[in-house]
Amino acid sequence: MNAENHHNQVEDNVVVTLEYELKVDGEVVDTSENADPIVFLQGAEQIVPGLEKGIYGMKLGETREIVVPPAEGYGEYDEKGIVEVARKEFPDDFPLEPGVEITVHTDEESEDGEDEEHELMEATIVSVNKYVVTLNFNHPLAGKTLNFKVKVIDLREATEEEIEHGHVHGDDDDYEFEDEDFSESEEE
Ligand code: ZN
Repeated sequence: MNAENHHNQVEDNVVVTLEYELKVDGEVVDTSENADPIVFLQGAEQIVPGLEKGIYGMKLGETREIVVPPAEGYGEYDEKGIVEVARKEFPDDFPLEPGVEITVHTDEESEDGEDEEHELMEATIVSVNKYVVTLNFNHPLAGKTLNFKVKVIDLREATEEEIEHGHVHGDDDDYEFEDEDFSESEEE
């Protein structure tokens, strides 16, 4: 392989470490300033599509501002994502507070109508009354334009195993994304 300048820029199958700041409606909603930068495999759809698209070609140390429309971020806001569920569907000791994010198991028929699919979905509790819990299945940033400011602080070639798995394997397990079968890590 020709090593010269081989991975001095962001391209597919390169492990990228990014410092980032995310502003929405003029406010910082997420930043790596007081946390770890994000580490991911470029081209493996580990980050929102518009951000992945926007960083191609960035050099080590380069800073870039990337504006991501909702469709390439966390999706458009969908009114059908607001769902009412009977309060009795929840365990008695469940913390039913507006603003709380929960994971819901859904049983949906697949598009060909053949089998039932079990899916885990994130939802936010909108409101709670005596009989009904209103859930919002939209991502909290759905419908929002994402204003990223990012800086590339490390680039390295991915291993064959990482490319095969579609995610990064770190020196410690903090960077290890869950492998294919994630069911064992989810509490029933
Ligand atoms: Zn793996």
